Amino acid sequence: MSIISDSLKRIKPSPTIAVTQKARELRAAGKDVIGLGAGEPDFDTPENIKEAAIQAIKEGDTKYTAVDGTPALKKAIVEKFKRENNLDFTSDQITVGTGGKQVLYNAFMATLNKGDEVIIPAPYWVSYPDMVLLAGGKPKIVKCDEKEGFKLTAKKLQKAISKKTKWLILNSPSNPTGAGYTKNEIEDLAKVLLKNKKIYILSDDIYEHIKYDNFNFFTIAQISKLKDRTLTMNGVSKSYAMTGWRIGYAAGPKDIIKAIGKIQSQSTSNPSSVSQAAAVEALNGVQDFIHERSNAFKERRDFVVKSLNNIKGITCLTPNGAFYVFPSCKGFLNKKTKLKTDTDFVQKLLEKSNVAVVQGSAFGLEGYFRISYATSMKNLQKAMERIKSFCESLS
Ligand code: PLP
Repeated sequence: MSIISDSLKRIKPSPTIAVTQKARELRAAGKDVIGLGAGEPDFDTPENIKEAAIQAIKEGDTKYTAVDGTPALKKAIVEKFKRENNLDFTSDQITVGTGGKQVLYNAFMATLNKGDEVIIPAPYWVSYPDMVLLAGGKPKIVKCDEKEGFKLTAKKLQKAISKKTKWLILNSPSNPTGAGYTKNEIEDLAKVLLKNKKIYILSDDIYEHIKYDNFNFFTIAQISKLKDRTLTMNGVSKSYAMTGWRIGYAAGPKDIIKAIGKIQSQSTSNPSSVSQAAAVEALNGVQDFIHERSNAFKERRDFVVKSLNNIKGITCLTPNGAFYVFPSCKGFLNKKTKLKTDTDFVQKLLEKSNVAVVQGSAFGLEGYFRISYATSMKNLQKAMERIKSFCESLS
């Protein structure tokens, strides 16, 4: 009999972390691997944020804090929602966790009963289905087509709803496609959700600030009638280049927020006191950094999209945000290339050309791969040349 629990057997390790680890190992073995698998900005945390953390350490801000966030950080989060999203919350509607990941995990653990369904539009962030499974729920995957910009439509949403549906997850701009929902698109989904009064919405807004071409970010809780049924999750990891600091947060109905706090009180307790002090500065301090970095990402996005579309057999949509593209490799999956799946494609690409990307099937949509362009232009130029030569060698 195995010591490992049945619930753990339902899930798999994160495939994106696995690719990053594989690239690291190959590099350690002397191979010149370019890793385009990681989901984190290559920029460093801004100086003012680092300084705030150093100051916090010096002032003895090194003890346990309130389990679900310090009053100072909750206040900064309440102000952020008002300033940036025109949303009114009180501090008892806010929870802070060790990264957005922990907040989402706690939310599912706090709300799902066996068999409850969670609608997850695919392609999705790899952790959603596994978190749902771990919490005893049932992921209901809804595939979203490239021709619809990889976005969920009202029609598909309506079709996916059952008596057991508890949550819908929305992620805009999206990991892995970078697709952002427009106000109209969100309003269309909201119409369906207003009719189905038992469904809660989990809005993952972690890429809110990484957006291009005047894309107007809009979060579903701004539609006031749905605010009471929405948990809006966000964090400092991506916007402020603070992935290692591990601070994420959410705002929503008091009963859910309280339940999330209860789980946290019996697992990790508070997120790091020093990281919370740094997050206060991130949210309250100058925001110039966000725009500067978005401009740098835009330059990379434009280069990558153009380079990929210049490769015969590859097509790639232009995303509105985040730092990912999700090109199709279907043109290479045939008898001639002997590649059957996107996993075959990315494995061959790594073996032959030393470029690490992640297969689309890891995100719930076969026939694609994800590139993270959160790396230097120099790396991207080299990677695009290698991908081009690799694809030409297949044709
Ligand atoms: N949501 C999405 C869509 C993500 O891509 C990530 C990180 O990759 C997270 C949430 C979690 O971010 P963190 O735990 O670093 O706050």
